[in-house]
Amino acid sequence: LFITIEGPDGAGKTSLIKGLAPLLEASLKTELLLTREPGGIPISEKIREIILDPAHTTMDDRTEALLYAAARRQHLVEKVMPALAAGKIVLCDRFVDSSLAYQGAGRGIGMSEVASINEFACAGLEPDLTLYIDVDSEVGLARIQKGRAAEDLDRLDTESLSFHQKVRDGYLRLVKDNPERIVSIDGEQSIEAVQTACFDVIQKRFPK
Ligand code: C5P
Ligand code: MG
Repeated sequence: LFITIEGPDGAGKTSLIKGLAPLLEASLKTELLLTREPGGIPISEKIREIILDPAHTTMDDRTEALLYAAARRQHLVEKVMPALAAGKIVLCDRFVDSSLAYQGAGRGIGMSEVASINEFACAGLEPDLTLYIDVDSEVGLARIQKGRAAEDLDRLDTESLSFHQKVRDGYLRLVKDNPERIVSIDGEQSIEAVQTACFDVIQKRFPK
């Protein structure tokens, strides 16, 4: 079972996953693998550092999209596929939808162009379920400004509100186009309410 968690910056994915994991482990009685993108394994964490290095101001949008896809491929092969083959539940913080929303819609490459390099990278592997945590762009940015380290705040200046609105619009389009796979959750509720909502969706979708 391959479950991905998606959402714009400030949606609260990280705290959600922390709370959701023990609930799932207790109820599903299957081993759970928690992982994240970009990263999750050494090669992909290195690619993450290259992508997110604020000194790399000249990075081309398509280069960025290709690096995300490369990090994804290696993470799939080394970590996700073996875990799925062993019958584990894989809960992954971000996946292809992030690339479609951030690079495709946000940076303006186009979602179908970014989809094509990711089809190459994933070679047919798709999530069984995606939980999209939706949050208004201004609310999300305000949350980040309160809670983030100084080096990440620099990044925020260059990524204006309009970028984040484009990312969210991209996500909302994905939700509309993939009603079977993606379930949208209101991320402006309390953390507990978001956790409960996600837990309920997973239980309903995959009863024991
Ligand atoms: O998931 P997390 O919040 O750790 O992501 C780290 C950063 O990478 C975020 O600032 C996010 O906006 C950015 N990102 C991106 N494009 C992606 C995935 C993440 O710009 N495809
Ligand atoms: Mg996070």
